[in-house]
Amino acid sequence: MTDSYRHKGMRKSLVETLRQKGIHDEAVMAAIGAIPRHFFLDKAFEEHAYEDKAFPIGNEQTISQPYTVAYQTQLLDVQARDRVLEIGTGSGYQAAVLAALGARVFTIERQETLYLHARSLLHTMGLKTIQCFFGDGTSGLPDYAPYDKILVTAGAPVVPEALKNQLMIGGRLVIPVGDSVQHMHLIRRINAGKFETEILKPFRFVPFLDGIQRQ
Ligand code: SAH
Repeated sequence: MTDSYRHKGMRKSLVETLRQKGIHDEAVMAAIGAIPRHFFLDKAFEEHAYEDKAFPIGNEQTISQPYTVAYQTQLLDVQARDRVLEIGTGSGYQAAVLAALGARVFTIERQETLYLHARSLLHTMGLKTIQCFFGDGTSGLPDYAPYDKILVTAGAPVVPEALKNQLMIGGRLVIPVGDSVQHMHLIRRINAGKFETEILKPFRFVPFLDGIQRQ
């Protein structure tokens, strides 16, 4: 795994593209500028790693488009040392971006093959503030709750109640909700029983599924 000047140059242009598309959070752009996205893709796609596109990562899943990663991360408003739960580790790229922002990341994946691959890659990269878990994120990750922020990277038909309950007061949940098209939802926990929801732009995510899938 090498991160050359050429890769760094391509990342700079990607950040410029994101800025032109309306991303304005400098910390998020710095994190995207810092993480080598080509580490998270199959060799076959290395040349395309810094295009603003989603790519297959195997097991019918995709690494999200950089714009989507930036958009969701911006909505989360990550602060250093925030405890962030990510549902849908996939390639591990989004988790690495969260770690670059100073978060302590808990990430869970339902497909064992992807979980094992991402865990090993993130370990090799020395990203020690990320913990990977294999399981169904529909029930969140209660053992480590509550979280300052929760991010779902698969399209959910409804908002799982467990995720809302695992948020700290003042915390944020970012989740794409819908069947064929998903609208991004930003849910803030105001107090123990009160949540405020903002419904934002439409996206297309791979589906949020129940249960686990072993190798
Ligand atoms: N964040 C990932 C995007 C992966 S796509 C990245 O940066 O690459 C979404 C992922 O969510 C897929 O890997 C899919 O297997 C996973 N997923 C879907 N439903 C899930 C669930 N209930 N629990 C955990 N992971 C889930």
